Amino acid sequence: MTARVLDGKALSRKMEAELSARVAEIKSRTGGCSPILATILVGDDPSSATYVKMKGNACRRIGMESLTVELAQTTSTEELLAQIDSLNADPLVQGILLQHPVPAQIDERQCFDRIALAKDVDGVTVLGFGAMAMGLPAFGSATPAGIMRLLQHHGVGIEGRHAVVVGRSPILGKPIAMMLLNANATVTICHSKTEGLADLIGQADIVIGAVGKPEFIKGCWIKEGAVVVDAGYHPGGIGDIELPAVIDRCSAYTPVPGGVGPMTIATLMEQTVCAAEKHF
Ligand code: NAP
Repeated sequence: MTARVLDGKALSRKMEAELSARVAEIKSRTGGCSPILATILVGDDPSSATYVKMKGNACRRIGMESLTVELAQTTSTEELLAQIDSLNADPLVQGILLQHPVPAQIDERQCFDRIALAKDVDGVTVLGFGAMAMGLPAFGSATPAGIMRLLQHHGVGIEGRHAVVVGRSPILGKPIAMMLLNANATVTICHSKTEGLADLIGQADIVIGAVGKPEFIKGCWIKEGAVVVDAGYHPGGIGDIELPAVIDRCSAYTPVPGGVGPMTIATLMEQTVCAAEKHF
């Protein structure tokens, strides 16, 4: 079986070209006002700094401005909340992203939920999640929303299929499960206490790997013809799924890198442009 490559890099480039035109349109309508995505980076985690830089670069590619707020590792919850309040009140800022994870002394949930719903372009607030889960208008969490976009772009059938999601984090496992359910999949959510994981994965028409452990999901667990979506990324260019062992048996798969990662950033850009279009 020749598996279809769900190429996130190619689709993200296409999305960026469309977004550049939308940003230019906003600028021409507003006499030069650019949408602004504010990213908050707390502490000195090198991976988080790289992700924030990549998001700033993506803003530049589509002609949008980014504003990076860098806060010390010792920042308190109150200090971070005050920073979010100030960005919420800033009419020049249409999107706010708080880079996850924040240092342990900070109440991350409280800080995420302080982001104004209209500026929650990364879909991290409880209100945004609730609205999305209910099928109401809201920005979805960027990674799962990007995965859904990729599946839809490639015409992957979701309705009536059995999707098995491995992982239940607030930014990935839970929202992708809700999005798949809203698209009429039958959804099983697995986590660290799940029993019979390999058997459950073996029943999946669509497997979503969101575990955070390199090649944790073995290729031989996945049934022939399944669609394989790997959200993981680890040093050496490997994901959460043992892709080489399943590539010749699955019907479609996301490459690592170049699958889910670029879609996350493109989705964040698109949601910020949408927020700006509403604002202006
Ligand atoms: P996370 O918060 O660490 O969550 C991992 C999930 O995996 C948890 O729900 C955990 O279950 C589950 N898990 C751990 N061990 C397991 C086991 N033995 N069996 C079954 N489930 C198990 O991770 P995350 O933030 O969701 O990220 C998941 C992956 O996606 C990571 O590889 C990360 O790098 C990647 N990611 C990629 C992007 C992107 O833009 N490409 C964005 C975000 C994340 P419990 O809830 O029971 O602990």
